[in-house]
Amino acid sequence: MSDLKLQHLDKIYDNNVQAVFDFNLNVKDGEFIVLVGPSGCGKSTTLRMVAGLEDISAGNLIIDGKDVTQMPPKDRDIAMVFQNYALYGHMTVYENMAFSLMLRKENKNEIHQKVLAAAEILDLTSQLNKKPNQLSGGQRQRVAMGRAIVRTPKVFLFDEPLSNLDARLRGSTRREIMLLHKRLGATILYVTHDQTEALTLADRIVCMSMGHVQQIGTPLELYDTPANLFVASFIGLPPMNLFDAEIKNGQAVCDSFAVDLTAEEKELLSKYNGQTVTLGVRPENVAEGGNIKINVFSNENLGMNTLVNGTAGNHKITCKFRDWCTYKPGDTVNVSFNKRHFFDKNTTNAIR
Ligand code: ADP
Repeated sequence: MSDLKLQHLDKIYDNNVQAVFDFNLNVKDGEFIVLVGPSGCGKSTTLRMVAGLEDISAGNLIIDGKDVTQMPPKDRDIAMVFQNYALYGHMTVYENMAFSLMLRKENKNEIHQKVLAAAEILDLTSQLNKKPNQLSGGQRQRVAMGRAIVRTPKVFLFDEPLSNLDARLRGSTRREIMLLHKRLGATILYVTHDQTEALTLADRIVCMSMGHVQQIGTPLELYDTPANLFVASFIGLPPMNLFDAEIKNGQAVCDSFAVDLTAEEKELLSKYNGQTVTLGVRPENVAEGGNIKINVFSNENLGMNTLVNGTAGNHKITCKFRDWCTYKPGDTVNVSFNKRHFFDKNTTNAIR
């Protein structure tokens, strides 16, 4: 396996659309990197530049110390798994997995061993003689992965591999990809718009918006210390609640409530006295009991917890309470904010 360096990568398409701006990332050997962001933010373009399916407009791509920026895809030793599995319908599972190795004219016996080993890892041994249309969506996805595994590439690229699967299968296939990563120790670049996939799979997440990297860090770093409002809103579900708050007299004063600042927060916000900042609170950090009054408009029971939506003054707020709650529209509930985030309104950056 291998390390990967993406250095100052830009992508400008022929129609002058710049899809990626100055992308920088060092991927360590065996690391699982997830590129996440909304549709159109440049994730696939970045992945396709690594694969060699798109030219790199500026910057350098280094794999294992070798500059491959100008190298054609077939020489880069990279395997890509797409969201539509693109299996050959007339071939068996075995033939689908063996195909790229046969094209390379590898030894038949070695091909056989590689296919059997990949099938074993992916729990496909009993499916090898079937055609793709005899398989479930999850099994087809595994065959697509098998085709990548047999090539023992330096880097695996995944482009939204789970987006065609139903919710239950998405969960189980996600766990399979996790296990696969552990077993193979593979270097993986994985693209998704789904923050849950990013949080659950990644060693490190790269969060993108409009072609720009917003933050690179572990899942916990992005969740706990988002660099700016974009990351704060994108990572975490339901998204973070955001309020305008004026910092004065040791409080963050919103339109209908005020939050007493801790000594640490006062210190952090000392430069912002008399100014308005953005106060962020994750739904799971809103606790029942306190001096903030919420007018409830809906109560969604999720089993383990309940989402209670309401308004606090002019602001909508979502609370995620533990247990089974039975609030009704029109009820009021008093809450407090356990963990608070603060952002500069002008730059949108976290105040640190
Ligand atoms: P994502 O994978 O995050 O959904 P993409 O990388 O596919 O985003 O696209 C990023 C931007 O580049 C979008 O604005 C998209 O419209 C544009 N784009 C993608 N492919 C092309 C292309 N072949 N020609 C011109 N613009 C493109």
